[in-house]
Amino acid sequence: MIAEETSLFRHPMPDGRWRNFFDTAARILPRDVRSALRPHASAVRRAVEELDPWMDAACADTCPACQDPCCTAGGIFYNLADMLYLFSLEEALPLGQTRTRSGQSCRYLGPRGCRLPRIYRPYVCVWFLCEPQARRLSGESARFQRRVAELYRRIRHHRLALLDTASPFLPLLEDV
Ligand code: SF4
Ligand code: SF4
Repeated sequence: MIAEETSLFRHPMPDGRWRNFFDTAARILPRDVRSALRPHASAVRRAVEELDPWMDAACADTCPACQDPCCTAGGIFYNLADMLYLFSLEEALPLGQTRTRSGQSCRYLGPRGCRLPRIYRPYVCVWFLCEPQARRLSGESARFQRRVAELYRRIRHHRLALLDTASPFLPLLEDV
């Protein structure tokens, strides 16, 4: 079992290369592998959907007055596990990597925050809790905090399972 996510693809990427990844995955991944990937992607999606209302409320509370918005950081990208997850959702894809060239800001950042539903964001944008949000979480009930920790654990498990399931084909996908 793969124990850690790779940083592969965490870099600016032309949109053609982004599309090529998904076209290649559709071409080379056998039907049984795609069927095996699907439940892991669905499990990640369900867990992110459960986190979403609390995270929306936390953002509504903390982001408007933020002096150093995290979305303006330059190092936020989709990685390989994100891209396998998006592929396995079998839904319309985001336009591309967060930026096509270094120095650009994230293409999904709009005047009122992220324009992507949380389930389509890079996972780093989901698990990251800044200090004010971490404080907000520590003020929640112990039961709620355990549930959040369980959801993060579940997401990590299923993201690693996506990589594991596709592992025989990863060298072909890494080259696109
Ligand atoms: S999540 Fe935290 S760091 Fe990011 S914009 Fe909101 S308050 Fe600022
Ligand atoms: S994808 Fe959305 S949440 Fe992530 S950095 Fe870009 S604007 Fe922010």
